[in-house]
Amino acid sequence: MSDSSFLSQTLSRIQPSQTIAVTQKARELKAKGVDVISLGAGEPDFDTPENIKQAAIDAIQRGETKYTAVDGIVELKKAICAKFKRDNGLEYQPSQITVAPGGKPIIYNAMIATLNPGDEVIIPAPYWVSYPDIVLLAGGAPVIAEAGPETGFLLTAAALEAAITPKTKWLIFNSPSNPSGAAYARSDLKALTDVLMRHPHVWVLSDDMYEHLVYDDFDFSTPAEVEPGLYDRTLTMNGVSKAYAMTGWRIGYAGGPELLIKAMAKVQSQSTSNPTSISQWAAVEALNGPQDFIAERAAVFKERRDLVTSMLNQATGLECRTPEGAFYVYPSCAGCIGKTAPSGKLIESDGDFAAELLEAEGVAVVHGAAFGLSPFFRISYATSTQALTAACERIQRFCASLVRD
Ligand code: GLU
Repeated sequence: MSDSSFLSQTLSRIQPSQTIAVTQKARELKAKGVDVISLGAGEPDFDTPENIKQAAIDAIQRGETKYTAVDGIVELKKAICAKFKRDNGLEYQPSQITVAPGGKPIIYNAMIATLNPGDEVIIPAPYWVSYPDIVLLAGGAPVIAEAGPETGFLLTAAALEAAITPKTKWLIFNSPSNPSGAAYARSDLKALTDVLMRHPHVWVLSDDMYEHLVYDDFDFSTPAEVEPGLYDRTLTMNGVSKAYAMTGWRIGYAGGPELLIKAMAKVQSQSTSNPTSISQWAAVEALNGPQDFIAERAAVFKERRDLVTSMLNQATGLECRTPEGAFYVYPSCAGCIGKTAPSGKLIESDGDFAAELLEAEGVAVVHGAAFGLSPFFRISYATSTQALTAACERIQRFCASLVRD
């Protein structure tokens, strides 16, 4: 089969996930024996805690290996309600909770369940690579609102206001942000929720996946908590992947109005069905079990953030803001554009920068165009201090090797 007209027109409008593509490329190069340091994947290098693994083993041995309720077992829904209350002061009933095989299906289910052709979804840029493409796959129209370095990568109230039209259905909000690591203080967020209160037709999907990865005593907040008036049109989304180092287990969840939650379950009943039964039991333990290790791991991430930021700021042509959270930095490579790499290639874009960096020094990063804001690149610092130091030294050497003709 070689005729691509067989494929849908929608498919031609989306890209394969670049975060996954870069990670896969690094994996393949490594398998060939190339010395590659991969800073592509946003995945904690820590292991899933023992008590969580044990809960999964126990679940297998108890025979919890069959279909479950399509959007999650009640034990997990209750654990999620308790988590929302404990961490966010949000009251949800189990009937307002949905569980999916990861964060992506939560977003996908919400978009499929609500978007009609032409409905707009506001996405601040830089954005996580998958938001616009999920919206497109669901038949909606992404509307990109720039949130660049001038505002610390935060969407301003004015930019949000300007992006809203009568067709706006959702704002996808993400704090701390993947890829910039920028997080909204309560007052920044209140400015946005004030705008949303003036536009009752706009819903908010708050992707809180990096909630627990904040540094320097940053106080995390989420829209439905900051503005209770938005509770009835907010989907508060989270997952166990990042905080509990459970990326491979694939468990994402969300709380929101029952009507939406039921509609999302309907979509999931016709796609994946339930998330893996064993992963759900592991997630129950993650949310109900000891939480102390989260702060311990966050302290390690903070040290790595400081190391990476400092080393990148010493590289010629790079500028790196110190982010409040997540495990990403998003340095500007504007000072490298227009220079020539050791291969003789002129660096005209952040895509060229990332490709030449991989070629010359074997460091895999994701270029900014994939996140909708150039010229930048994303580094995931969820890897060992030793690997990060070596990678940053290589980046410094690469930047120093670039010449302006
Ligand atoms: N969320 C992570 C990242 O941005 C994992 C890969 C993905 O699903 O995009 O790298």
